[in-house]
Amino acid sequence: MEHLYFTEEHNFFRKSLQDFLQKEVVPHIDEWEKTGTIDRSVWEKFGEMGYFGLATPEAYGGLDLDLFYTVIFLEELQKVNSGGFAAAMWAHAYLAMTHLNKEGNHEQKEKYLTPSAEGKMIGCLCITEPFGGSDVSGMRSTAVKKGDTYIINGSKTFITNGVYSDYLVVAAKTAPELGNKGISIFVMDRNTPGISATKLDKLGWRASDTGEIAFDNVEIPAANLMGEENKGFPYIMQHFALERLIMGINAHARSEFALEYAIQYMKDRFAFGKSISKFQALRHKVAQLTSEVEVCKTFNYVTAKRLNDGEYVVKEATMSKLISTKVADEVMYECVQFLGGYGYMEDYPMARLLRDSRLGPIGGGTSEILREIISKMVIEGKEYKPAT
Ligand SMILES: Cc1cc2nc3c(=O)[nH]c(=O)nc-3n(C[C@H](O)[C@H](O)[C@H](O)COP(=O)(O)OP(=O)(O)OC[C@H]3O[C@@H](n4cnc5c(N)ncnc54)[C@H](O)[C@@H]3O)c2cc1C
Repeated sequence: MEHLYFTEEHNFFRKSLQDFLQKEVVPHIDEWEKTGTIDRSVWEKFGEMGYFGLATPEAYGGLDLDLFYTVIFLEELQKVNSGGFAAAMWAHAYLAMTHLNKEGNHEQKEKYLTPSAEGKMIGCLCITEPFGGSDVSGMRSTAVKKGDTYIINGSKTFITNGVYSDYLVVAAKTAPELGNKGISIFVMDRNTPGISATKLDKLGWRASDTGEIAFDNVEIPAANLMGEENKGFPYIMQHFALERLIMGINAHARSEFALEYAIQYMKDRFAFGKSISKFQALRHKVAQLTSEVEVCKTFNYVTAKRLNDGEYVVKEATMSKLISTKVADEVMYECVQFLGGYGYMEDYPMARLLRDSRLGPIGGGTSEILREIISKMVIEGKEYKPAT
């Protein structure tokens, strides 16, 4: 199936990325998982290799490659076994940078997008609030125009790269009375007076800094508005298609990684005089799970191809995340079981995989919200269109 989507160049890229990750990332993962920080130098190395700019125009330091380079980037990141490290990288490259790329003007792109592609600046995307997670339009943060500035007040939570990033892409209400039609997007420097961040402790994704951020009378130039005022909601929604597909792809990739490890383990582990891979109770589970993962992967590749060809695949991307993250959770649960007591030990990869995978059905739209979206589309025939 791979040959339908990946050329020789793609395969070469995958191999060099694998080598890079083995050399520059894998030896440090355990330490970063413990400290919850990622060495700044590795961001720069990613930048030097061009990994952050795969989908960025050449004019802003990127490589402007097709989406299957991004698919490879995401898949291989899952295989270093740190959902947190992977999230820090893809949230920068595909949450913060996607908004800059699509809604940023030339000056904003020169100031933030180019250094982001080079790994010299790290970004984060701040949408979720303590009182507005699934209900994005319920956000309370405000941006009030005052002369040629905006004054931002409010708070955000659960923000990936929320503590150590250099700039923030922030959604706030410019016209609260208009509900979701009154949201705008801004970019701002981390060191702007009035911005403070606290690191959150969490179940998994431990290498990434998930932050709660407060904005206390933060004054930013009016020129930091991204795109048009009050268009923030459609901007956010249209990028959810990519974000959700990313999370679907991540899910099939980490499932493959877990199953590959578990199958090898089962071949090597003996009980009752034979390899545990010979027990039908386990074999059938492996057969079932590998089938489910393969179906997800095939669907995710088709969806990636359609997105790459310019289709607005909001329904399919939503389905991709809904199903692939569910399958991944089942895979992790069963793979812990395949390893017995060793599955529960931190010296083996499954414990972290289980923790990290659990975020799949929550972040970037919970499974319940995804089912809401899909049911509106398939029952009422609702259509979602990209922002114009
Ligand atoms: C580690 C981590 C990293 C994250 N990174 C980012 C980031 O970089 N940027 C960012 O902006 N956000 C980020 N998020 C936030 C994430 O997207 C939200 O947590 C998610 O959208 C859910 O919002 P909530 O936590 O407020 O849950 P709530 O909206 O409070 O939901 C609670 C429960 O109620 C259910 N529920 C809510 N509404 C409905 C409904 N209409 N029907 C049925 N059930 C419903 C939900 O499905 C869920 O089960 C991150 C979260 C985590 C945990």
